[in-house]
Amino acid sequence: MIAAADRALVDKLVLANRILYRYGVVDGFGHASVRHDSSPGHFLLARNMAPALVRRDDIVTFDLDGTALDAAGRRVYLERFIHGEIYRARPDVQAVVHSHSPNVIPFGVTGQSLQPVFHMSGFLGEGSALFEIRDVAGDTDMLVSNNRLGAALAAALGSRSLVLMRGHGSTVVGSSVRYAVFNAIYTEKSAALQSEAMRLGAVTYLTRDEARAAAACNAGQIDRSWELWKLAAARPRFQPQT
Ligand SMILES: [Zn+2]
Repeated sequence: MIAAADRALVDKLVLANRILYRYGVVDGFGHASVRHDSSPGHFLLARNMAPALVRRDDIVTFDLDGTALDAAGRRVYLERFIHGEIYRARPDVQAVVHSHSPNVIPFGVTGQSLQPVFHMSGFLGEGSALFEIRDVAGDTDMLVSNNRLGAALAAALGSRSLVLMRGHGSTVVGSSVRYAVFNAIYTEKSAALQSEAMRLGAVTYLTRDEARAAAACNAGQIDRSWELWKLAAARPRFQPQT
């Protein structure tokens, strides 16, 4: 048995679930995870439930194969393999968000790459990757519901921050819970902006160097967003703005 995860980290993951709901990244579906703080071969993810309703007691520990250590009979997410296989393939990744956020879907189905359209999406400097599940498993229900599909998704992601999943959604990674949430919120926002810009005409994206510099600048100010998002998640009547 491994040591219990840091309580503050668990609380941060609970908060991340609620924030992602408030900002329209997840609805009844989608999920967020974090790598275990003292055991890199494990990760934390809620049991099978709507993200906005997640509480501390709903967080379950998994190994990288997606086997739950302490589910105690509770249902777990069908797509937990997304998380385990990305943590296995990417030691730098500490948190993962999988969602079906609507503005991203058109990119996956057209094979159009998401690019850094503005400075807040500097993390997209390498552009998005694309996962075509049909190439791996033929006709399926589109879900990444086993280790083989999870590993194929992780391979498609490669060294990037975002992988589009054709006809399904996307998965974004970060070096912490806060970065993964930041990247998930700005993936959705960036997708809406890029779609709009493409309707108007030829788009000038940030160069790789501009994107890298912008991402570094954003990283230094992430607390500013996180504090606002915490407020939005805690107060149902508060109208969230990014
Ligand atoms: Zn999904």
